[in-house]
Amino acid sequence: MSAPTSYVYAFADGSRELTDLLGGKGAGLAEMSRLGLPVPPGFTITTQACRSYLATGEEPADLGVEVAQQLAALEQAVGRSLGAADRPLLVSVRSGGKFSMPGMMETILDIGLNDACVRGLARVTGKERFAWDSYRRLLQMFGHTVMDIDSALFEEVLAARKQKYGLKNDTELDTGHLKSIVQEFKSLIRREGGEEFPQDPVTQLHQAIRSVFSSWNSERARLYRAREAIPDDLGTAVTIQTMVFGNLGADSGSGVAFTRDPVTGEPGLYGDYLPGAQGEDVVSGARDAASLDSLRTASPDVHDELAGHLRTLEHHYRDLCDVEFTVERGTLWILQTRVGKRTAEAAFRIADDLAAEHRISRDEALRRVEGEQLNRLMFPRFAQRPCDVPLAGGVAASPGAAVGVVVFDSRAAVREARAGRRTVLVRRETTPEDLPGMIAAEAVLTSRGGKTSHAAVVARGMGKVCVCGAETLTVDETARRLTTRSGVVVHEGDTVSVDGTTGTVHLGALPLIDSDVRTAVESGTSTGALSNAVLRSVAHADSVARLEVRANADTPADAALARRLGARGIGLCRTEHMFLGDRRSLIEDMILATDDDARRSALDALLPLQRLDFVGILKAMDGLPVTIRLLDPPLHEFLPDLTELSVRLATMENPARRDRELLDAVQRLHEQNPMLGLRGVRLGLVVPGLFAMQTRAIAEAVEQRLREGGDPHAEIMIPLVATAEELRLARAEVQQVLADVSGTAGRRIDCPIGTMVELPRAALTADRLARHADFFSFGTNDLTQTVWGMSRDDAEASFFPVYLDRAVFPVSPFDSIDEEGVGRLITHALAGGHKANPRLAAGICGEHGGDPASVHFFHRAGLDYVSCSPFRVPAVRLAAGRAALGAASGGSASR
Ligand code: PEP
Ligand code: MG
Repeated sequence: MSAPTSYVYAFADGSRELTDLLGGKGAGLAEMSRLGLPVPPGFTITTQACRSYLATGEEPADLGVEVAQQLAALEQAVGRSLGAADRPLLVSVRSGGKFSMPGMMETILDIGLNDACVRGLARVTGKERFAWDSYRRLLQMFGHTVMDIDSALFEEVLAARKQKYGLKNDTELDTGHLKSIVQEFKSLIRREGGEEFPQDPVTQLHQAIRSVFSSWNSERARLYRAREAIPDDLGTAVTIQTMVFGNLGADSGSGVAFTRDPVTGEPGLYGDYLPGAQGEDVVSGARDAASLDSLRTASPDVHDELAGHLRTLEHHYRDLCDVEFTVERGTLWILQTRVGKRTAEAAFRIADDLAAEHRISRDEALRRVEGEQLNRLMFPRFAQRPCDVPLAGGVAASPGAAVGVVVFDSRAAVREARAGRRTVLVRRETTPEDLPGMIAAEAVLTSRGGKTSHAAVVARGMGKVCVCGAETLTVDETARRLTTRSGVVVHEGDTVSVDGTTGTVHLGALPLIDSDVRTAVESGTSTGALSNAVLRSVAHADSVARLEVRANADTPADAALARRLGARGIGLCRTEHMFLGDRRSLIEDMILATDDDARRSALDALLPLQRLDFVGILKAMDGLPVTIRLLDPPLHEFLPDLTELSVRLATMENPARRDRELLDAVQRLHEQNPMLGLRGVRLGLVVPGLFAMQTRAIAEAVEQRLREGGDPHAEIMIPLVATAEELRLARAEVQQVLADVSGTAGRRIDCPIGTMVELPRAALTADRLARHADFFSFGTNDLTQTVWGMSRDDAEASFFPVYLDRAVFPVSPFDSIDEEGVGRLITHALAGGHKANPRLAAGICGEHGGDPASVHFFHRAGLDYVSCSPFRVPAVRLAAGRAALGAASGGSASR
């Protein structure tokens, strides 16, 4: 029995509650052992031991002793011993952190073989070729992983041998060939590694454990963690397990199986099986596997036993599970299980089905889907046109529609992405080395491997489009081209469309159409299983959410769309867009006005147009709040560009008077830092009549809607306020106009008046602002810029890529709210605001309102609503419900 402070746990002593310590793999094996599933015996070294190793560069003092004790117990249990030539025990040494990181860390198989044991293994199994093949695999894996020798050197030896003997595949090498390859590998290790391959199996084991610990910090593992928001300080557990062999003949094999389809979520067993093969051959996609049906045909009993174990696991975990299994001479062994990665589509289907089967509650089903996943399902898909003949078909491994230029290696994908181009990464098969390219590309296309290959699993985890195993394509990575069966050649740089939903690849860019999910959410009805699952999740989210979801919309059409997508009002109606197009000349007139009369007549001309805008929006949002923000951007944005205008005037013989006046105005209004210049409330205070005109248009629109029998709820918002005095003055002007319009209309027109909180000073002095505000709306775009002291456009174009690469922050503070900095100001402002004005309402209308992960923070902070772009409303509704349940804020539901 392991003491609580142990660094090593036998499978029988662990459980899934210990995932932090034993990693997902170790905990899963322990849990399966407890459930009585056939697990090859073994033990797991904790993540704590790894953390200690990484911190000090040495194993913890007791680790060696504990490993020796567990090993002795294991040897006794299986009746074989590590290094015993007559009955050799072989073990695998595998990594496994708390969160699955497929293929990112190291695994070493067949530990325990040496010059003597290889003969023992041959005798015990009666398979000499198998024993020598296992030995050469160990030398190859150990040499590369533990001794850091370039794996290409081993491959070169193999290739040279095959060429010499005139063979095509590794499987054709006979015992004699393998024996001489073993000799060559040993000399290669001596030459390149500077020492002999250790013949002592215990030394092999300890070195393997150390290199698995170190692989936690490999470049690809770090990159994967940064992308999946997995903390860097968790460390990996190491599982040591008795080897079982799928390559002992026709009655052996290896496979991967899922309790449901991880791509579509369809109920029913799903998986791949490769007869006569080791597990690694299935997972790497190096050999194309058959479906589980082939196992059913070859060994019905084993298939049924596997199906029974999968049922047990799904019942136990109440979720989709996947397993890796091996059949050794007719005996089934389960090597690993975990809650399986799935696509966004499958996540919704499975959660909904499990809830319908009463295996989980509706709350739990909601916890298992994420806003980002719903966003993905809202994207358009390719239109199905009979004329589109695909270049090739493969396995639909991760759904979605992607268009991009073909690249043939990871580096090219990264380079092109940096240049702003969308790419499709095409490989024969992917390995963990391809990770940067997979991240950079829009889609991944491989010519080999099935739904459980590296490409498929990793792409699914990232929500990337993937088609794999498109076998009719000949991929020539060196010549940088692919050739279809009918002879079409696609070169690097050509555009293709990859349909991860149907598993097809097309030349050129296919047209896109709306997603069924989006149509269903907009109409509120559906007949499809997926759309129904989404509708039920969103409805449940609405029923538990506290945060209200509004939309940022400034046209009646956007307002109507937002409402159809479930918005409960408009949280930000920007009025600046209403001054563009045909109306630009009217605002120019206002800017150019040299006296009050000219300015008034320019504003008078704008008034009816603004009123019309507001009437349309209030009508589309009848019965719901519409927060209208008075003009915010600097006036020069409404004037021609300084350089263009100067050039135009310089080339004119006789410039018109208006052009000269315009140039004067542009020069007068030119600012070094317009973001921090004359804008927002500052404009309202220095341009007489501007805010009054806008307020009048709002009030008259409200009055008109009331006359028409509507139910308008306009709210007036003052932007970029820094001090209470600005707000007091602006509010007084707005109130005066509301009173005037009320007087003329003969009925009271009342609108709540509030302020944006988007400057640090406003947030710091929120208690003072709140005395003049009915509501606050946090403008987290400007607030993030001003708190960080950087302009978003400039930062993103210059140093952000380096900052993200160097992990200065894991995600841009413009994408996900910076809780430590901006978030603290929001919390402070809310507390001050509510203290001074207990009836103060508060929301957020920056881009962060559309980020599901940030929505969890806004819920915790105690805001009343979030406002986001219409298209994001469904995902944010989902996030608001999940936040109310205290669900994890996301980043990777697929983990
Ligand atoms: C903000 O600053 O967050 C905001 C909503 O205003 P804008 O993006 O229009 O400056
Ligand atoms: Mg702003």
